[in-house]
Amino acid sequence: MTAELTGGCQCGNVKFEVNGKPMMVALCHCRMCRRAHAAPAVAWAMFQLDQVRFTRARPKSYRSSPPAQRGFCSECGTQISFVSEDLPGVIDLSVGSFDRPELLPHSLHYWDSKRLPWVNFADTLPRHAEFPPFE
Ligand SMILES: [Zn+2]
Ligand SMILES: [Zn+2]
Repeated sequence: MTAELTGGCQCGNVKFEVNGKPMMVALCHCRMCRRAHAAPAVAWAMFQLDQVRFTRARPKSYRSSPPAQRGFCSECGTQISFVSEDLPGVIDLSVGSFDRPELLPHSLHYWDSKRLPWVNFADTLPRHAEFPPFE
């Protein structure tokens, strides 16, 4: 089966394929994402773990908080993934690492309570103060 979505890091060391649609695409304004990505906000697409296949090197893992691991390319440093023991069975992939990020528009914002005052996206999508209720 041909993957519908593909992506990878800046240098091409890490590549991934994803089958099917994301469970959620969101913009995160939390401080941890901001620092990890060195960016004012971070877009994430959430998938079931078994939708995602790494086809070259796997991301190197950094434990950014007790439950959470952030994956990045060990060669070029691109931030690729986020998994948390608080959300078993799912993986977030950074929308910016997809080959066609334009196919993954966000549908909500979370950690809006930490949003930088000069970051204002021109949408009227839901803005959750923290991480939204999740099933
Ligand atoms: Zn790389
Ligand atoms: Zn975040």
